[in-house]
Amino acid sequence: MPTKAKSPHLPFGDQQTAPWYGKDILSVKQFSRPDLEYIFGVAHEMRNMVERVGAFDLLKGKILANLFYEPSTRTSSSFMAAMQRLGGAVIPISEVRYSSVAKGESLPDTVRTLGCYADVIVIRHPEVGSAAQAAEACSKPIINAGDGVGEHPTQALLDVFTIREELGRLDNLTVTMLGDLKYGRTVHSLARLLTRFDGITLNYVSPDILRMPRDIIDEVAEMKVPQSEHSSLDKVLPQTDVLYVTRVQRERFEDPAVYERVKDAFVIAPEVMKSAKERMIVIHPLPRVNEISMAFDADPRAAYFRQMEYGLYVRMALLAMVLGKA
Ligand code: ASP
Repeated sequence: MPTKAKSPHLPFGDQQTAPWYGKDILSVKQFSRPDLEYIFGVAHEMRNMVERVGAFDLLKGKILANLFYEPSTRTSSSFMAAMQRLGGAVIPISEVRYSSVAKGESLPDTVRTLGCYADVIVIRHPEVGSAAQAAEACSKPIINAGDGVGEHPTQALLDVFTIREELGRLDNLTVTMLGDLKYGRTVHSLARLLTRFDGITLNYVSPDILRMPRDIIDEVAEMKVPQSEHSSLDKVLPQTDVLYVTRVQRERFEDPAVYERVKDAFVIAPEVMKSAKERMIVIHPLPRVNEISMAFDADPRAAYFRQMEYGLYVRMALLAMVLGKA
């Protein structure tokens, strides 16, 4: 559960006693297992509603400010779609160079401004801790949509929701994370979040220079979750239930030559997947570059396109929760 209670305006009709009302979503560390069951329950209902009626007016009259200082396709458009399917409106700011940021406005001042117009702010920013800084400055709920190499909590929630919907369980799973585990913020959030479940084993497969950061490994160890690091996929693939593939994060490298050396270290292709279980899934936060061959897309285990759709339902659930409607 989040610790910080906010005190936004309390418009008539909001469920002000709802547990997530007015709260920020900054890190997966906020979520207990019962919180996750609750979120996934709401997301599942959102899925049913979208499949049945497409859109409905749960958040009519509410406004989301979508503030993106880094590129995004899925996160920004799924938050916009989520708000609009719930009957709300969106202020999209994805070209910060056309906003007052280009005049030198600070992040706290920008979010203070948006807090005057919107009921909730989704923010993506290149610096670790930026979403927390925004939350300090603004009385409206802030949702972290990626703070540099830090966290991407809503992605991890949708990753776990994908596993639940696809495999029908969240306990007793072997999850293998592959690729850029150093700079990939999604794996930082996901490894932390998976420690909430029972019987999880984590495998990390990466080039040596892109290994999972020490602080995450230590946190996972504290939760007594078995984990191991590998330089090749061969040994761990046959036991894997969820293969989580990531892109090598070119924009985080200081030296482009180093990126060139590691960018194609792992490529998932039909031949590679021959040794994997028949019932398992391959997921990816996307965008993919070369790390999953298009020849694998038709395989039923390739769940990465379905995963994007699950993201819509999770983001609908989160918006409804922080706005006191779930
Ligand atoms: N879309 C994800 C993120 O924003 C993954 C990626 O960019 O590789 O972190």
